[in-house]
Amino acid sequence: MRALQWTGPETVVVNDIPVPDIGPNDLLIRVGAAGVCHSDLTLVNFPIQLREDPLTLGHEIAGTIEAIGSDVTGREIGERGVVYLFWTCGVCRECVSGNENVCLAAGRVAMPPCPGLTMEGGMAEYVRIPAGTFVPIGDLDFIQAAPVADAALTAYHAIRGTKDVLRPGGTAVAIGIGGLGHAALQILHAISGVRVIAVDSAPEKLELAAACGADVSILAADDTAEQILDLTDGRGAEAVFDFVGVDSTAKLAVETVAPNGAYRMVGIGDGNPGITAGPAGGPGLPWGATVRKSLGGTRSDLHACVALAQAGKLHMEVERFDLAEGPDAFQRLDKGLIRGRAVLVP
Ligand code: NAD
Ligand code: ZN
Repeated sequence: MRALQWTGPETVVVNDIPVPDIGPNDLLIRVGAAGVCHSDLTLVNFPIQLREDPLTLGHEIAGTIEAIGSDVTGREIGERGVVYLFWTCGVCRECVSGNENVCLAAGRVAMPPCPGLTMEGGMAEYVRIPAGTFVPIGDLDFIQAAPVADAALTAYHAIRGTKDVLRPGGTAVAIGIGGLGHAALQILHAISGVRVIAVDSAPEKLELAAACGADVSILAADDTAEQILDLTDGRGAEAVFDFVGVDSTAKLAVETVAPNGAYRMVGIGDGNPGITAGPAGGPGLPWGATVRKSLGGTRSDLHACVALAQAGKLHMEVERFDLAEGPDAFQRLDKGLIRGRAVLVP
């Protein structure tokens, strides 16, 4: 089969590799579509060789069940679905509490095992998955469904965790209107009554933000914090979601979140928000505000996102590429040229 593989720093190529074998508790999925996440790009651009063997990329996977392991019950060949991206232990205290996204199997600060990032992924004609990670999608289009498995899931999880502060009359800010951000705008509208402010450094992304229901769109500049404070009577936004995570956006989040508000770090740009334990009065984090480093989402969050997509309340803006064009999709993403999500079709 053909697979898009990461073979070394800044190198992705289409290789011919064997169709994976499956174990008794696995499914073999014929991939219908696989989304390209900025995290894939961060991995590919990592400056040093992290492993010797090529890695098949792809953690946003939608497809059809092609074969079923001998011990799997309750699944049928031909069923259509998406793949939950964390292949967790299922028995640690976080997993059994429904917080699989912070499964302890990989340790306190690592990411749980994830196809396409820590093991063979779905940018290929077929992928082996643990049967329990399959979530049915009915007749939802694969190209729509694939990015729901991470871009929407991660946005949804970050937003769901702030529901206590998201009340009608309040404001939410989304910084970075790419794959995750454009899903976040729609999810905020679907599940909360807040006004939504979108921020991006690229003008064309603000046009996408408006199409996704942003009430106000702001081009990132030196006065962005001032503009958001003006729009919120100086109080700030009840929730700020940073889908970029570099120094400037982390600082913007700290400077614009309201007292008792929620600042969620989702983008992994290594940004330093510069939070100190000093008293109020400066430009720092206001009293009562919470900060959470948000990773992916739970299995139940994925079911919720599939339901939103099936109900027509979440529409992923996608650019479609054949698997063979995968390297071009990565280049376009690197240049900031993708509108919404790039999705590969094998
Ligand atoms: P993307 O490339 O599709 O979108 C990024 C957006 O941010 C673009 O619209 C870009 O114009 C904008 N942007 C870049 N720099 C900016 C700045 N300084 N100010 C304002 N806007 C800026 O990326 P994506 O796939 O949506 O991923 C977003 C981030 O989230 C990445 O860092 C990715 O690695 C991370 N991510 C985290 C998780 C998680 O679980 N925490 C999951 C998936 C992705
Ligand atoms: Zn991702």
